[in-house]
Amino acid sequence: MQLGTQVSDPRYRFDLAPEQMPEHWYNILADLDFELPPDLPPPVSNHENGAFKMQVPMEIIRQSIGKMRYVPIPEEVRNAYRQWRPTPVFRAVNLEKALGTSARIYFKYEGGNTSGSHKLNTAIAQAYYYKKAGVKRLTTGTGAGQWGTALSAACHMFGMECKVYMVGISYQQKPYRRSMMKLYGADVVASPSTDTRIGRELLEQDPGTKGNIALAIAEALEDANSREDTRFCIGSGENYSILHQTIIGMEAQQQMEMAGYYPDVVVASLGAGSNFGGITLPFLSDNLTGKRSTRFISVEPAACPKLSRGEYRYDYTDFSGVTPLEKMYTLGHNYVTPDIHAGGLRYHATSKLVSALYDRGYLEAVAYQQRDIFNSGALFCREEGILPAPESAHAVHGAVMEAIKAREAGTSPTILALISGHGYFDMTAYESYMAGNMQDVHISDEQIQASLRTLPVVEEEGA
Ligand SMILES: *Cc1c(COP(=O)(O)O)cnc(C)c1O
Repeated sequence: MQLGTQVSDPRYRFDLAPEQMPEHWYNILADLDFELPPDLPPPVSNHENGAFKMQVPMEIIRQSIGKMRYVPIPEEVRNAYRQWRPTPVFRAVNLEKALGTSARIYFKYEGGNTSGSHKLNTAIAQAYYYKKAGVKRLTTGTGAGQWGTALSAACHMFGMECKVYMVGISYQQKPYRRSMMKLYGADVVASPSTDTRIGRELLEQDPGTKGNIALAIAEALEDANSREDTRFCIGSGENYSILHQTIIGMEAQQQMEMAGYYPDVVVASLGAGSNFGGITLPFLSDNLTGKRSTRFISVEPAACPKLSRGEYRYDYTDFSGVTPLEKMYTLGHNYVTPDIHAGGLRYHATSKLVSALYDRGYLEAVAYQQRDIFNSGALFCREEGILPAPESAHAVHGAVMEAIKAREAGTSPTILALISGHGYFDMTAYESYMAGNMQDVHISDEQIQASLRTLPVVEEEGA
């Protein structure tokens, strides 16, 4: 019996049993017939404020460059994942009806853990490897707070201390994420803080400064450099953090098999690339072997269109220019992303792995305005009962656009979208959308070019 618009048919939900949780991450480096461009050291002059020391444990380094196709997930990490994994895949039947589409829309939901997003997948893995390497304390910088929350929870799981430098403006505007980190025992300070030299200097110059992610990272780095027992760690963008997210796609492969449909299109939001890589790479491996020709669509904010409008160049991964240079699609590390609500998608570039795949034509990119994004996010909430994070609403909108195209073309593709996190701490953004205060942002080519002109000039081998 059908009750109202509710669909209770259990076939619309695809759950894996606990023992079906993947035992490996998928490493796409094993299947590529090309090498990623090497990282380059930054100019020495950028190190006046102290050398950049990124001491990543050997096991994590091996995961960044190794060619082992399936990397075993350590038992301790799998045990921690069991708190919320495997995560469900749903068929979005009500959304399909609302759109009047002939497409089948499925979505995988990563918001069902304490951090509220996929970021806990790599936070746990990283905390585990750092702990094993003898590190007692981790520092990081966080903007909107999702990464800080994930790392705080992971540090608690492995009995480590955690210090989070949270961008000052977010510290004030997002009190609940701050509270979550504190609940997990993390030491959270507004950046700039008086706890570091660089923070004190900036506060002296401009006591009212509200900070930015570059500064928060710079403080976290300085902190880690000043203590033997401490390391700095980051949530996204590096090969290893994408590797840790591939558990999403490996689960989804099994779940789509249960559903009886292989996706024709996979859609995810694109920040530094970890949730996008996490769901797409295991499916992409079937394209590489010629078995399938799935489309992979990354959805960016129109305010930060690195793949759709950036250039494939060497750039810094941080805003302050002390990190090694990586070849990525970038808008330039000096690009100032307008203050859109999807904080997790404001990064100026995307990972070198996703960039290389895009450059070789394996991926597609689209960019949308935030009012359209929130329209689809709100629609998804009403029809499917989950409020997507503003970042994840990008994936929803990408799926909606594909479903509308299918309706118009009279085709029935299978679409799989990744809901990377929930939006229950982002109510200010949804309030602003409902009040009609939300602005679209138009970036001119000149703005992008001006930022790209500040990129370092490097000699590429063989170029
Ligand atoms: C951080 C974040 C993103 C963007 O980061 P990626 O590395 O591109 O995945 C997307 N969605 C949510 C919910 C996030 O917290």
